[in-house]
Amino acid sequence: MEARGDWLAVVVTILGLIVGSFLNVVAYRFPRGESVMFPPSRCPRCGARIRPRDLIPVVSWVWLRGRCRDCGAPVSLRYPLVEALTGGLWGLAAWRYGWSLETALGLVVISFLIALSAIDLEWQILPDELTYPLAIMVIGARLWMGPEPWWWYLGGAALGAGMLFALYWLSPLLFGKEGMGLGDVKLMVGLGAFSGLTGTVLTLFAASLAGLAVGLVLQRMDRLGEQRRIPFGPFLAGGALLSWLYGDTLMKAYFGLFL
Ligand SMILES: [Zn+2]
Repeated sequence: MEARGDWLAVVVTILGLIVGSFLNVVAYRFPRGESVMFPPSRCPRCGARIRPRDLIPVVSWVWLRGRCRDCGAPVSLRYPLVEALTGGLWGLAAWRYGWSLETALGLVVISFLIALSAIDLEWQILPDELTYPLAIMVIGARLWMGPEPWWWYLGGAALGAGMLFALYWLSPLLFGKEGMGLGDVKLMVGLGAFSGLTGTVLTLFAASLAGLAVGLVLQRMDRLGEQRRIPFGPFLAGGALLSWLYGDTLMKAYFGLFL
């Protein structure tokens, strides 16, 4: 695989850490209706502006032991986690697909998915303002760059969104409660187009399995909370990225069991 570059992966990981800082700002401010560009970050307790030297991804949080330099207010572990996750996934993408359009598309999709997952975990919503642009961008990119024919990707979008819409529609009839939000359906339009037909099947399979497992564990621990539901967006995002990065390997291993 001559297209793979170790150096590319290292550089992209570092860029990903920086983009992760920005995604933290997006995920915090966007649902609160604040501008993501202005003003610069401040401590929510004492209002002190965060100094440039304290904006180094992950490192600053560890160095300051998760506290504001001015007032000592705790800074959520979520910030370094989002930065590390973005850096790690960006690096994996570059490692897997090298210097290519596929990598470029993947980096944008990963960034959307991290912001969307963080918002879904905190608010149980997937805003249209993010899922629509993701879907339009991915469909446009797939129709233009392939590498499979157009129906492969539009088929993935239709299959994925169709399955989730059926669940959204059927759950209240079958179980008497909502099993799925419309936000999940809209997210799946973009993810299905990103993954293609087989990738979409794998995405739904992995997301359901992981969602079920986590749901059962949380139920056991009595941690499901008032709403008795867990956001499904992060599982769909994880399934789609698993399928994009390792779908071929997983499929081969799976069918290898029978051949
Ligand atoms: Zn402070």
